[in-house]
Amino acid sequence: MGNSRVKHQRCGPAAPRPRRRRGPTDVVCLPLFLPLGALVALLVIPSGSVGVAWGWVLAAWAGLLMALALWRLARRRTARYRWATIPGDRLFQSLLRHAPDLALVIDGHGGITYLSPAAGRLVGLEPNDCVGMDTADLVHPEDLPLLTGALRDLEEEDAAVLPFDLRLQRADGSILWVESKLSDLREDPAVAGFVLNVHEITQRKAIEAKLVHQALHDPLTALPNRLLFHRRVEEALAVRNGRPRLLAVLFLDIDDFKTVNDTLGHAVGDELLLKVALRINGCLRPDDLAARLGGDEFGVLLVDLPSMHTAVQVARGLVEVVAQPLALHGLTLTMHACVGIALTNEGASAASLLRDADMAMRQAKSQGKGQVAVFDAALQNGALQRLSLRADLANALARRELFLHYQPIVELGSGRAVATEALLRWQHPQLGTLLPDEFLPVAEETRLMRPIGRWVLERACLQAQACRARFPGQPLSISVNLTSTQLDEGAVVEDVERALENSGLPPACLVLELTESTLLRDTQSAAATVHSLKELGIRLAVDDFGTGYCSLSYLQRLPVDVLKIDRSFVAGLGSDGRQAKLTEGIVQMARTLDMQIIAEGIESSGQLAHLRRLGCDLGQGYLFSYPLGPEDLEDLLATRHGECLPASLA
Ligand code: C2E
Ligand code: CA
Ligand code: CA
Repeated sequence: MGNSRVKHQRCGPAAPRPRRRRGPTDVVCLPLFLPLGALVALLVIPSGSVGVAWGWVLAAWAGLLMALALWRLARRRTARYRWATIPGDRLFQSLLRHAPDLALVIDGHGGITYLSPAAGRLVGLEPNDCVGMDTADLVHPEDLPLLTGALRDLEEEDAAVLPFDLRLQRADGSILWVESKLSDLREDPAVAGFVLNVHEITQRKAIEAKLVHQALHDPLTALPNRLLFHRRVEEALAVRNGRPRLLAVLFLDIDDFKTVNDTLGHAVGDELLLKVALRINGCLRPDDLAARLGGDEFGVLLVDLPSMHTAVQVARGLVEVVAQPLALHGLTLTMHACVGIALTNEGASAASLLRDADMAMRQAKSQGKGQVAVFDAALQNGALQRLSLRADLANALARRELFLHYQPIVELGSGRAVATEALLRWQHPQLGTLLPDEFLPVAEETRLMRPIGRWVLERACLQAQACRARFPGQPLSISVNLTSTQLDEGAVVEDVERALENSGLPPACLVLELTESTLLRDTQSAAATVHSLKELGIRLAVDDFGTGYCSLSYLQRLPVDVLKIDRSFVAGLGSDGRQAKLTEGIVQMARTLDMQIIAEGIESSGQLAHLRRLGCDLGQGYLFSYPLGPEDLEDLLATRHGECLPASLA
């Protein structure tokens, strides 16, 4: 036999005739001793006819026994060899039938030349029917390359092949997982092929599959989790290689989810997530993929897109389905979601697409509820810049890099400054002078808005009071802008009180400017803060009026003193008839409500003339003055008595 290891493996455990305990001594040595005994008897027994006769009888008997023993030994050896090597042998068949492992023999062309009966039972085939079949008929098509590869390795390199897992296909179509070990017995004439020993592991594989599923899926929604989503994006990028079609990654984040969770409880939150997951899945094509990335954030992978437009359409569709009313625990909620889109570009990786989609989603969020934004490189640059600005801004106050400019607010009839608006600037050590739009959003994102806002109030009140002291004949009031975070925090009441106290400025000389959207924030605390501020005796202005809400009823509800008409109205005065009519309407309405009107962004004499005709009281704009540093402001008051009209219009 060519491979003794195999011989022992197959036959060793089931040595024949276990009932017989005698070893080789029993079988061979005993009969040998008998003739020896006879010989001794012949030599020892005294000569004589009776003695010789007895000697011959004993010798004949011993010879007979020896012949019998030799015959049995020879027979036994032959049988052992046959059991071990010839598949057709009854014992071999019996051993294989009861062996826990299964075996099949494959020839050099992948044909099956032998299948053990147990293997046949397992795959639901008669062993004889399998002989002549191809391994491709038995092995799962996806695993066939694995087997052919292993056969090739064994054939070419004559090296040991490590055990590997395979799927076999049963006759009824079901799948059987086996752990396989391949050995080369081609040189054994009795086998003449590769032997595949397989051990069933279907149950182990089922447990493994459950563990893998758990590691890669979200337990609540059963959607793929972030890890699997990342992998799928990677795979999609690899498959796409060289193809012109687009691939998009979408990030969807539910607006105000935290509020639902905090106020209605986690059970409602979970049900909401589950329903949203179902709705998202309902919008996708079979090849697309939805995943839950964590919390209230979902990812969507769109493959093979004809254009970017399709990705935007899908994103809008998602926003719409999320916004449909949801029945949860007896409540009906209307939720919204924002979606960020990242599209494949040159050198895109799964990580970069996920990061870009996340950034676009944040951009969408900053625009309000239910928004969609597509990532563009400028967004990324902006984000990077914001990160470094954030670190710098934390030190800006201490390093005295912030300062205020003052833009005169002018009486349109006389052209004289009656107030100024404090406008913040930042002298950045590397970037030069930065305008508020460039750094205030960063301050809003961090906890820096309160100290900065407090500093602006202090500085502006001190400056206004200094001007009033120096130019008592020209009593200027001062306008200070407030952001929504300042209002929400409520501490602004204390800050205003302190700024007035420290500067000695009469409260009536301080105007606090709030935009419409800030004023109308639907929070109890914001409304309470507005009233507390008013109780201090200050005046309240609505900034950028006309750009926020269409409803004007709030003007009657809130203690507003001044309306600042947004500069977009003023810009449209000359050219857009409808805009002019609207501006006229606003001025009349403010009059009836006994409010002061300030027109913002007056840049031309034509605009000034128009506003004068409309009966607008006050204005502000580059036509009169750019925002001025404290010295320039004082110079204006000292030398021109606050006269801001250009000489040609005076
Ligand atoms: P805003 O309150 O509407 O301030 C007026 C803005 O319009 C100022 O821009 C001013 O320079 C600009 N402006 C004035 N006249 C004209 C004009 O004739 N034409 C044009 N095109 N623009 C004109 P600035 O200083 O860049 O301020 C931008 C915004 O930043 C302000 O808008 C205000 O909302 C905010 N802001 C400025 N300073 C502060 C501050 O101290 N605190 C807070 N919370 N916000 C501030
Ligand atoms: Ca303002
Ligand atoms: Ca404004």
